[in-house]
Amino acid sequence: MIPMPPVLDVRGVTKVYGEGDTAVHALRGVSLVVERGDYVAIMGTSGSGKSTLMNIVGCLDIPSDGRYLLDGTDVGSLDERRLSILRNRKIGFIFQSFNLIPRMSALANVELPLAYGGVRPGERRRRAEAALRQVGLGDRIDHEPNELSGGQQQRVAVARALVTAPALLLADEPTGNLDTRSTDDLLGILDQLSLSGRSIVLITHEDEVAARAKRVIRLVDGQIIEDRRQAQVNGPPPAAARLTEGAR
Ligand code: ADP
Ligand code: MG
Repeated sequence: MIPMPPVLDVRGVTKVYGEGDTAVHALRGVSLVVERGDYVAIMGTSGSGKSTLMNIVGCLDIPSDGRYLLDGTDVGSLDERRLSILRNRKIGFIFQSFNLIPRMSALANVELPLAYGGVRPGERRRRAEAALRQVGLGDRIDHEPNELSGGQQQRVAVARALVTAPALLLADEPTGNLDTRSTDDLLGILDQLSLSGRSIVLITHEDEVAARAKRVIRLVDGQIIEDRRQAQVNGPPPAAARLTEGAR
């Protein structure tokens, strides 16, 4: 049997913006392996390189130096077109600002990545409905974003990220625009997804968000200064089993 590659394998990645005197060294040799099923929080103050790292990991930007493998594929060897296919297949993005398309139903928003991926309409609908049920929005599928609360919108965004069954869920400050209650709901959903075997990498500067991850990585000035596993204080709630089927 061929062993499964790590979902992320970042090797000596650097990123320099600009050149000469004004060059900014945003990443200074970051190496990081994330195995399938891990749940990693990346923390760091503003300017420490978090978004730069996320953009590289998310195949939205390329490193200045170093290598990066996503689910076994060497990203550096791909042209723009192949990169966007890889991004669509392998990564589910969750953003701070939800990034839903206005005046489009929750269902249509969640179907979108499947439409790009060439999935047929019937199958698209079935999978999008399953993903929305998975985040507790089975009764809101026809609602448009402006008819949903912030917390519900973010759950639609999670369903959209999940629906392609990506190798990796990548979340950049996913609770940044949510109130306490919606933050709890969202973290509960991420707990359940983690329990069902999803691989998650999230950026946050909030301790209580990072506390839910299995592993915390701290970036300072473009370098990893801490990488630790943590005991799960908040463990997933008992309803977790409900999420093991669905949107695959
Ligand atoms: P964080 O997300 O942790 O706040 P960033 O990755 O956004 O950090 O930024 C890291 C460093 O790189 C900062 O000094 C920032 O000013 C700089 N930087 C980020 N993006 C660019 C860019 N497009 N051009 C020039 N400098 C940038
Ligand atoms: Mg940032």
